[in-house]
Amino acid sequence: MISVAIDGPAAAGKSTVAKIVAKKLGFTYLDTGAMYRAFTWYCLEKGVDCENEAACVNLIPEVNIEMKPNNVVLCNGIDVTTAIRQPRVSGNVSYIASYKDIRLFLVEQQRNMAKNSSVIMDGRDIGTYVLPNAEIKIFQVATVETRAKRRYEENISKGIQCTYEEIEEDVRKRDRIDSGRAFAPLKPAEDSILLDTSHMGIEEVVNAIIKIITDKFPETRIYE
Ligand code: C5P
Repeated sequence: MISVAIDGPAAAGKSTVAKIVAKKLGFTYLDTGAMYRAFTWYCLEKGVDCENEAACVNLIPEVNIEMKPNNVVLCNGIDVTTAIRQPRVSGNVSYIASYKDIRLFLVEQQRNMAKNSSVIMDGRDIGTYVLPNAEIKIFQVATVETRAKRRYEENISKGIQCTYEEIEEDVRKRDRIDSGRAFAPLKPAEDSILLDTSHMGIEEVVNAIIKIITDKFPETRIYE
C-alpha cells in the first residue's frame, strides 16, 4: 500500500490532477478540503456564524460527512457535492478549518480511510500532519494569478456566478488564513517535492506526479 499526499494553496489544481492520477493507478482518492467545506455548509445551513468558534465546534456531534465513490459528498445524508463549491462556502471554510476540534474530528476519519488501501489525499496538512509517513509527498503551487484565473474559469463553466476579482480576493484570504493558523497550518513537509504548475497543463502535471510515484515504486501498475 502506498500513500500519496498532495498539499498546496487554494486552487493550485490539486484535486483535478489527484483524481486523474488516482484513477490511472487504481488508488482511492480523498478530497479532504471537501470535508471542511461540508462542515462549513452545515454551519451556514444552521445559521451559525463561521467566525464563532464555540458555536461551530458545538455542532460536531450532529455532523456526519460521508465521502462516496465518484467524489459525491453527503452531509447528514444530503448530497452537498455542488453546494460546497458555492462562494459562500469558499469564503467561510478557512475559519472552520482553523478550529482544532473540527480538524481533529475530520482528521480521524481521513486517517481511517488510508488504512486499507493505497490513497491519494489532497489538502493542506496531509504530508505534515494527517499522513506524516506518506511514501510520496508533493507540494503543488502556482502563482496567485494563475490559481485565481483557473478557479474563475472553472466556476464560470459550472455556472457558479462570480467575478475574477472576487476569486482572487478569496484565494488570497484563504492563503493567509490557511498559512497563518496555529494548528496544522499550510506548509511544505520537509520531505516533500515542490511542483510549480504555473506554466504546466493538467496532463503535464498528472504525468509528473505519476513519474514521481513510479520512479520510487516501479512495480506500480498504470491502468488505461
Ligand atoms: O482544497 P479546498 O480549497 O477545497 O479546501 C477548502 C479549505 O479547507 C481550504 O482553504 C482550507 O482552509 C481547508 N483545508 C484544510 N486542510 C485540508 C484541506 C482543506 O485546512 N487538509
